[in-house]
Amino acid sequence: MKLQKNTILVIASHNLGKVAEIRELFKEFPLMIKDANEFDLKEPEETGTTFAENALIKARAVVAATGHTAISDDSGLVVFALQGEPGIFSARWALDAKDFNFGIAQIEKKLKEAGTTDFTAKFVCALALCAPNGEEEIVEGEVFGRLVFPARGTKGFGYDPIFIADGMMQTYGEIESKLKDRINHRAVAFDKLKKLFSVNESS
Ligand code: IMP
Repeated sequence: MKLQKNTILVIASHNLGKVAEIRELFKEFPLMIKDANEFDLKEPEETGTTFAENALIKARAVVAATGHTAISDDSGLVVFALQGEPGIFSARWALDAKDFNFGIAQIEKKLKEAGTTDFTAKFVCALALCAPNGEEEIVEGEVFGRLVFPARGTKGFGYDPIFIADGMMQTYGEIESKLKDRINHRAVAFDKLKKLFSVNESS
């Protein structure tokens, strides 16, 4: 996909943690980045059965509502001993109040009930870039790791305080956001997306 310089790109998310990370990723491009909070946009129902399907639903909804190019993120935590839960339902496990302490407690409870010592998990992120002319790019990134309880650290958002990426000692809630931005599932997906679009700097 080829974008013109200063194209308005709307981040199709109301999640402030995600918006901040996506803004950071696009910083190097001469685009005008806006987010769903700057428009009066309703969140579409996520009726897809995969991260990629839900990312496309969100980006297409923003393109339809604003007429601008949109980037969306659908992401979540996949816990292997829980047959992939909470997966695409990661936000919903935190209930409408978006109380991640509740979501975290749910995962801990279910792991205990399963009587497992397998705390391996992965974060998955699908990014969809959709343009008003119908062009679409979709990519996925993953980072493998393990869960720890109790939660550790106050940085990041969502399930960050219980996730330790492979090769690390600290949770995503403990490491500096600059480091998390460089290594997480969103960054892995973005590295793939970067190969699929360019910005025409001379326009
Ligand atoms: P979505 O808005 O349906 O994609 O919800 C994604 C949910 O997955 C978030 O609300 C978090 O619960 C979780 N999640 C996704 N990415 C991250 C992350 O980088 N850190 C912590 N939790 C995340």
